[in-house]
Amino acid sequence: MFLPRLALAIASALVVGSAASAQEPARAITNVTLIDGTGAPARERMTVLVVEGTIAVVAPAAQTSVPPAAHVVEGTGKFLIPGLWDMHVHLAKAGASSLGLFLANGVTSVRDLGGDFALVQQWRSEIAAGQRLGPRIRTAGPILEDPARVRRLKARGTVEPVDRFRVPVTDSADADRVVDSLARLGVDFIKARTAASPESYRAIAAAARRAGLAFAAHGDIVPPEEMLRARQGSIEHALYPPLARRDARARAQLIRHLVEARVAVVPTMVNYYEWLLVSPARARRIVEDSAGHLDPRRRYLSGYLLDDWREQVEERGRVKDALIRRLYLPRAYRGVLRDLQEMQRAGIRILPGTDVAVALMYPGFSLRDELAVLLEASAAGFQLPAARCQRTPGVAVPPTPGP
Ligand SMILES: [Zn+2]
Repeated sequence: MFLPRLALAIASALVVGSAASAQEPARAITNVTLIDGTGAPARERMTVLVVEGTIAVVAPAAQTSVPPAAHVVEGTGKFLIPGLWDMHVHLAKAGASSLGLFLANGVTSVRDLGGDFALVQQWRSEIAAGQRLGPRIRTAGPILEDPARVRRLKARGTVEPVDRFRVPVTDSADADRVVDSLARLGVDFIKARTAASPESYRAIAAAARRAGLAFAAHGDIVPPEEMLRARQGSIEHALYPPLARRDARARAQLIRHLVEARVAVVPTMVNYYEWLLVSPARARRIVEDSAGHLDPRRRYLSGYLLDDWREQVEERGRVKDALIRRLYLPRAYRGVLRDLQEMQRAGIRILPGTDVAVALMYPGFSLRDELAVLLEASAAGFQLPAARCQRTPGVAVPPTPGP
């Protein structure tokens, strides 16, 4: 149980992008404190030996001989953990330079919730062939949308090349055609953000089931009972509206059904802390601070991602948006947080994701913030610490710019 899981992680950390070959020397991480991710206690002074991309030995350093030709990483004072997943990113928006940032932060796998499939597919195959450094990628391809939303995005004008990122779906014939063609192209799952109608939502879910693909959708697309009936596999972001209006018994019953159906929730709580509850003025200062004085992570971002962030910051600065933010968001946040805590206690699978592409979400780095939030949120009585929104995060891992 333990070895294969760890094997995955360390193999990812060490050989992703370099296509392990038979000629490659063994790699040894010596004297390291090992946290294997199974919940077992940390083990100090361990040596892990990786041969041809696979873990060959995990044993106390004192009892392990390292082959003389091995490439040795001295692990004294360091921790070795399984490679991390960011369960909600948009790679095509983050750009090629984000791929190395994920690895530098220990994120060796990502789940891409939609964008320019041709681009992501190209990166995915280059990574697999060892021509590019980057995480393992599971991708949805383009995002399925209510056609009205696609029209609105285009009419408004956006830096995003909408036609490459989103596919409109009107009715069940559309749903069948789109899902079948995505399945043939090789997407790993289907993602819907909005639906033209409940019928259209059901048709997408049914087409995904027929194609043998998992189905992910936003937490506000239909009521949760409908998600359960459609066998939606994951709820992206919080359930919205939060379950607050239901009485305690109805909430508990619904949550029990979600647990039984093994529905995963990817709440992307870091979006609240580091973006939605941050003032637009501060967000603007960070985006325009090209030297990265306010946030050193800012220096590693692609020009395209920054243009997208600028657009988001501009939208936030509008009067209507500012009002919504002040009057509505703190209340919504409290409901979302309460749902999350109730779901955590009930045993729903809560998965960490950042929605990289959302402004002030830094590829790789922000996953660590999300993990911290999820951990803190599991403590009883946890409230939003106001100071958190204004802190300047440190950079603990030296980032390696991606190719
Ligand atoms: Zn997203």
